[in-house]
Amino acid sequence: MPRRLALLAAGLVGACARKADTGETAAPVEVTADVLVIGAGSAGLAAAIAAREAGAEVFVAEREDEAGGSSGYAGSFLAAGTEAQAELGVPDDAATLLAEWSEITGGGDPDDPTVRAFVEESADTLDWLVATTGASVLAVTTEFDTGALPRKHWLSSEVVREGLVAAAGEAVHTGCPATALLVEDGAVVGADLACADGDLRVRAPATVLATGGFARDLDRVRAQIPELAEAEVLFEAAPVADGGGLGLAEQAGAATHNEGHYGVYVHATGDWRAPGEALWPASLASTLIVDAEGRRPVAEDRTRSLAMLDVIREVPGHRLWAIFPPATWETTTLGVPAYNWVTAGQPESIPAAEAEKAGAARRLGSLDAVAELIGADPDALAATFAAYQEVAEAGGPDPMGKAAPDLVPLDPTDLPVLPIDPGAAKAFTGVRTDEAMRVLDAEGAPIPGLWAAGEVAGMLGTEAVGRGFGGSACAVTWGGRRAGEAAAAYSASKEKL
Ligand SMILES: Cc1cc2nc3c(=O)[nH]c(=O)nc-3n(C[C@H](O)[C@H](O)[C@H](O)COP(=O)(O)OP(=O)(O)OC[C@H]3O[C@@H](n4cnc5c(N)ncnc54)[C@H](O)[C@@H]3O)c2cc1C
Repeated sequence: MPRRLALLAAGLVGACARKADTGETAAPVEVTADVLVIGAGSAGLAAAIAAREAGAEVFVAEREDEAGGSSGYAGSFLAAGTEAQAELGVPDDAATLLAEWSEITGGGDPDDPTVRAFVEESADTLDWLVATTGASVLAVTTEFDTGALPRKHWLSSEVVREGLVAAAGEAVHTGCPATALLVEDGAVVGADLACADGDLRVRAPATVLATGGFARDLDRVRAQIPELAEAEVLFEAAPVADGGGLGLAEQAGAATHNEGHYGVYVHATGDWRAPGEALWPASLASTLIVDAEGRRPVAEDRTRSLAMLDVIREVPGHRLWAIFPPATWETTTLGVPAYNWVTAGQPESIPAAEAEKAGAARRLGSLDAVAELIGADPDALAATFAAYQEVAEAGGPDPMGKAAPDLVPLDPTDLPVLPIDPGAAKAFTGVRTDEAMRVLDAEGAPIPGLWAAGEVAGMLGTEAVGRGFGGSACAVTWGGRRAGEAAAAYSASKEKL
């Protein structure tokens, strides 16, 4: 154990708590470290491991009782030019991904130095994750939000989480939320922590903020996307994603970037058992999706894409409706997000029929009844339905581009209908950084002593991420390593002064 952190083990923190029990106001116990990391998700753990590898004494403050953050749920990692791709004969490299970057991200800039560095080091980041955690690449798939080639690398999220936590080891202190950054002479020199055992003040020349996203702070989400002010917005992120870290950064004068580009998916229905929580219907691609004007605004197999934000922004009421083929409805399930079933003892999925019993879905006998339910003009809905049915019965081609296996004819006398609402998923806006992940102030100057990585930095700390991309857990890990290395080097240079 590092000498300077040994007082934690020696019980001084407990002593502080006992003093608090007597009603006296106790000063926080002070400890020092070379690098303080706030938050133990993928970004924070990667930062801590990298800083330790660089020889720094690291203190990781994690608010929750368990380390891992959202990393335990992320299974897919964007990378280009990997060995796994080569084994599959996929002709990919960083230059090819950069050439597609703008399209994948809806306007992101491939010439941005941070984007370039991430893409060029993405294969190395994946190798590092595999070597550090013992995970293996289970599959490589093509997705709408990762470009034209198979680039989404699937690892076991559980193995990744356990491996990162184990590698960070004794540096991690759980039950220790950071409540304020310590700012002296314009530099961040640590933070105050309200640990379960008593208050702590950690002094460190370098602090890495890695507190995750803000999907659970709907005020912040709606501030990014004002069109959703009146919409039903579901949670599609773990409860830890509450955005508190942005408040800490704001105290220190940090600027934000990429306003208006928040990662919203539109492929969930609300969980009637737990208002605000999302359930993910399987088989959405084989439905007909309509809006409240009876139009078909998107090819249904695109609902996995982050570009759905553009669709939901435009449609009236910011809600869609999925009409299922009856046989599909009878077998389909609604997936429960892992953060709800892992901890709350829920099943991983429930039959869609449960939604019908609860009144959250309706099974209607005519198109007119559907039109009444969704508030659409019956003639408009009938025209949309007829056009879709003709294409589905012919097996394509679909003018909107949906592939043939998902073109399943519907039954106009048996129409299961499920509402589909936007879900706040992940932050592509956050604290602005430079390419070394140093946090920048409103003038673009680095705030001495402060780095940020992961979702709190909107993944890469730059608006060059556009509206966002899939498999961003790789960017989170990359940014964490980079911040950890830079913070360790800065701390070492400060000690020599
Ligand atoms: C169900 C699910 C599936 C997902 N699947 C994928 C996927 O396949 N691919 C992908 O790329 N992404 C996926 N994501 C998103 C991905 O998990 C996150 O973007 C990523 O893990 C964020 O990492 P992070 O380190 O920035 O934040 P987090 O992992 O959220 O970690 C932040 C940590 O900071 C802690 N913290 C917050 N405030 C404080 C404080 N004041 N003091 C101390 N600690 C604090 C939190 O408790 C948390 O542990 C998924 C997310 C979910 C919920």
